[in-house]
Amino acid sequence: MCGIVGYTGNKQASPILLDGLSRLEHRGYDSAGIAVLKPDDSIDIFKAEGKLHTLKKKVDGNEPIGQIGVGHTRWATHGTPTDKNAHPHTDCSGNVAVVHNGIVENYLELRASLENEGHKFLSHTDSECIPHLIEKYLVEGYALTEAVGKTAQLLRGANAVSVISHQQADDIVAFRLGNAGGIVLGYGEQEMFLSSDLPALLPYTRKIAYLSDGEMVSITPAGANYYLTDGTSVSKAPSIAPPDTVTAAKGDYSHFMLKEIHEQPEAVISAMRGRISFDTNTVDGADFGLTDVQIAKINRVVLLGMGTSLHAAMVGRLWIESFARIPAESDNSSEFRYRDPVIDQNTLVISITQSGETADTLSAMELAAEKGAYQVAITNYDGTQATRIADSTLLMKAGIEIGVAATKTFTCSLITLFLFAMHLGQKRGTLEREKAATLLKEVALLPELLGKTVVDTTQYEKLAEQFFQYSDFLYLGRGVNFPLAMEGALKLKEISYIHAEGYPGGEMKHGPISLIDENMPIVALMPVGPRYEKMLSTASEVKARGGTIIAVATENDNSIATVADHTIQLPSTAHELNPILSAIPMQLLAYYIAIRRGCDIDQPRNLAKSVTVE
Ligand code: GLU
Repeated sequence: MCGIVGYTGNKQASPILLDGLSRLEHRGYDSAGIAVLKPDDSIDIFKAEGKLHTLKKKVDGNEPIGQIGVGHTRWATHGTPTDKNAHPHTDCSGNVAVVHNGIVENYLELRASLENEGHKFLSHTDSECIPHLIEKYLVEGYALTEAVGKTAQLLRGANAVSVISHQQADDIVAFRLGNAGGIVLGYGEQEMFLSSDLPALLPYTRKIAYLSDGEMVSITPAGANYYLTDGTSVSKAPSIAPPDTVTAAKGDYSHFMLKEIHEQPEAVISAMRGRISFDTNTVDGADFGLTDVQIAKINRVVLLGMGTSLHAAMVGRLWIESFARIPAESDNSSEFRYRDPVIDQNTLVISITQSGETADTLSAMELAAEKGAYQVAITNYDGTQATRIADSTLLMKAGIEIGVAATKTFTCSLITLFLFAMHLGQKRGTLEREKAATLLKEVALLPELLGKTVVDTTQYEKLAEQFFQYSDFLYLGRGVNFPLAMEGALKLKEISYIHAEGYPGGEMKHGPISLIDENMPIVALMPVGPRYEKMLSTASEVKARGGTIIAVATENDNSIATVADHTIQLPSTAHELNPILSAIPMQLLAYYIAIRRGCDIDQPRNLAKSVTVE
């Protein structure tokens, strides 16, 4: 679930490992560690519960000497976050050090049989059976790569693992099984890097290669050899990662999240670029993939995601229904993967995953692939597992997002979905020319309107001052704004730890209304558009019961003052595009409330940026 880094080369490993881990910090973790193989063949290990600075303090002044090592940030699944349970883990003799992402599903069984054979375990993790299994095969006389391959074949579940041992003192051996996060290799000059995430490698190299499910690699300073876990060799050539246009530095912003909120006008432009022809008022991205014949055949669309990506899927579903007139539904990937969904080769499955490595979404995609659906992945990272399962990939082009709470990847998913829905509508002849032209005119204005929306943050600071001590919030919206109500509630939960619920406005009378009193502020998304009057009535009903309304409304709406205690104004746009604008108040309100509550905004407790375990 969390981060892995590795280095073998002509420099000291420990500073590079610690630097790599700091670039993965945004993923959220509870402990960290490094292992360095010393010239005398012993392995030096440092581990610390808590944040990276605790580990760095331990290393400071005792830097391990050695030019090969691995590092890890752990997000505990088995065993509490303690120094002992932190990775790297070793075998009985201390000859093998392992870092592991994912879950070894059959670890109880493996551990019992290893303990029977005399292996001594020091932690409560599932991970520790891995070094002991490798040790067992080394003792039986296998070379390190073989021992690691044999071990990989015994593990059940989705796992990414990296290993060092003096048995092959220049090598890091790594493998990937299923979807527990990736392993990406970075090629340098007489040095090789390894990580679970591309951003950790980018300061060192852009020459990279990814491991696929079931593949292993052994890297030395001279390069990489790829295999399957049974030892069959695999040929793989590195490619060049595109330069990232947005820097991963915080600049003048107090948090990455705030910086990323402000980057949205620019990020949305990059997601639009190359996908629209304003001369002909058509939407046609080179990456859209489907042929006209395939588009004509689609009789159902299923959009999948988790968390914020699910909310994007919920909005996308409405756009597809409206523009392309195809029955569309959205589903939570973790539910979909365990159903026996009715899909076939005429179903279009669109999966949204910021990291491209969300375990539940990847499993849902694998299921859809078995059933023959045409699949589109919407992700921020090319080359990730989602892109490999999908038939075509639409990149979000948001630039690197460091804050754990998704912001610009949400708006970039939305604009990508919007354009894709228009494309389907244009190809199927269900989106009229004039309508398309009007929509695209508004799309062209969107970056400017987003710019206007992010600029005035003082209103959010004031609202935060007034509301930060409340313990429950209700978010209401209808139509395309209902998923935004859910997203607003999710943002608040994620970063300020306040309980919040998102509901369709029409549902209020069926339960939530009983909660309304002066202690439960209501954020009502009610920009001008369809069902605006309905939202006005809902808001009046709230008021009549003593509730406080924070309205998100279109500027110059004179009726809003009759129901709203506070109003956040949005610029006027096509009602279909409102969710892209209302994303901003959802993010900024949560952000400033979290600031007032003194929360760890970029790394909220218990959360991880890429959820690579189920
Ligand atoms: N399951 C392992 C553990 O709990 C690895 C967790 C992770 O992916 O960080 O230690």
